[in-house]
Amino acid sequence: MTIIVKEPVRRTVRFLGALMLGISLWAGAAGSAVAKASKSAKTPSAKSQRSKTAIATAKKATEAKAAMSSLAPAAVPDDIRKLGPLSVGHPHAGFLVNAVKMPSAPQWVLTVPSHGFATQETVDGLAHCLRKVHEQFPHSPPVMLGSLSGEHGGLLPPHKSHRTGRDADVYFFRKPGASWARAATRDDIDLPRTWALLRCFLTDVDVDMVLIVRRVQNWIEEYALSIGEDPAWVNRLFHDPKPGYKIAPVRDVPGHVAHMHVRFSSPRARRAAVAAYDRLVKTGVVRPEVASVEHEVVKGDTLSELGVKYHLSVKRIQELNDLKSTVIRLGQKLVLQQAVDIRGARDKVYLPGRHPAPFTPSPPADSAVAVATREPDDGEGASAVTEPPGPGAEVTGDKKTPRRDGKGGKRSKGASDKSAQPARRANGWL
Ligand SMILES: [Zn+2]
Repeated sequence: MTIIVKEPVRRTVRFLGALMLGISLWAGAAGSAVAKASKSAKTPSAKSQRSKTAIATAKKATEAKAAMSSLAPAAVPDDIRKLGPLSVGHPHAGFLVNAVKMPSAPQWVLTVPSHGFATQETVDGLAHCLRKVHEQFPHSPPVMLGSLSGEHGGLLPPHKSHRTGRDADVYFFRKPGASWARAATRDDIDLPRTWALLRCFLTDVDVDMVLIVRRVQNWIEEYALSIGEDPAWVNRLFHDPKPGYKIAPVRDVPGHVAHMHVRFSSPRARRAAVAAYDRLVKTGVVRPEVASVEHEVVKGDTLSELGVKYHLSVKRIQELNDLKSTVIRLGQKLVLQQAVDIRGARDKVYLPGRHPAPFTPSPPADSAVAVATREPDDGEGASAVTEPPGPGAEVTGDKKTPRRDGKGGKRSKGASDKSAQPARRANGWL
């Protein structure tokens, strides 16, 4: 037998309980594992047309069901409900169990209420920093929050991640008259508040990373230096010591032109999910993924025996392989399926640590009132946005002071005008 994905056979045993749920398990699984499996086929025979057809068929079926991943799972038993929020698996592949709803507050607006679920740690971290900026700048408009996660996590189009209650899209503060949903420009971003918010995420709460496009990073970095932040510390926040290190917590990912994507670490919810994972699968609260495996028929094999071995019905094996009968021949390559863990579901939880500043410069005078006045015509959930407070004084903390350390990226003059396009269109939607 050739296993198309790297899948230890012992997992069959591990998943025995889950697999007893029957073939409904396959129907509910995401198609990604199948897709990956077909890409990583190791033997030429796996590329045979029949296998390709079978994999394509399986992929089509599972993809059709992929949307189910964001629907309500089986009722959560009381003993699992008592565990509190559980962030299961990788943010690109997992689920959220026992979610917490981001509450309403004057300091922020949840632009898509149905995407307003997260772990308790994410909710607390967001609320802490949003409130802190409002304390520092008392006349601030509410921060616009984009997607967090769905109530049960899982796929949340158009995002790739946002599946496990750890991701939050937080829009930049903007100067009066600017649209919060459009790509920021050097002239319309409110740097004092945006820096204060980013600084809080990096110093006060546990985040894995913050994604902001490089040119906006440059404006924020320049501002931080201009108010006297420690240059070496600031440099570490925005720049890796070498390309590809991914140590700097603020990362350049295209599309993050109007908002910062904050990934919270949520260690408690992740560790609890790792500990509870087998129970979550066994009770059907989360469904493991499905990977295709290739089996070469040997003497004595029958479809019914293979069905028992792989926990598939004979009919399902026939479907996967376009078999018109139950006759198989020696050496024939069959595509079968096997449950695999949701990616990252058993990973050790690694905490990157906070990024305490060596000192805090005196805050700039707050005479600024940044107001986002215009709602997006193509943004999501615009109708849920409440009108922010009225306009006030000019932003004063936004001085164009030269960089001190001479390190890091260059400011891209002129890029701002080109980038004045609706954020959603320009967005990478991680
Ligand atoms: Zn995002």
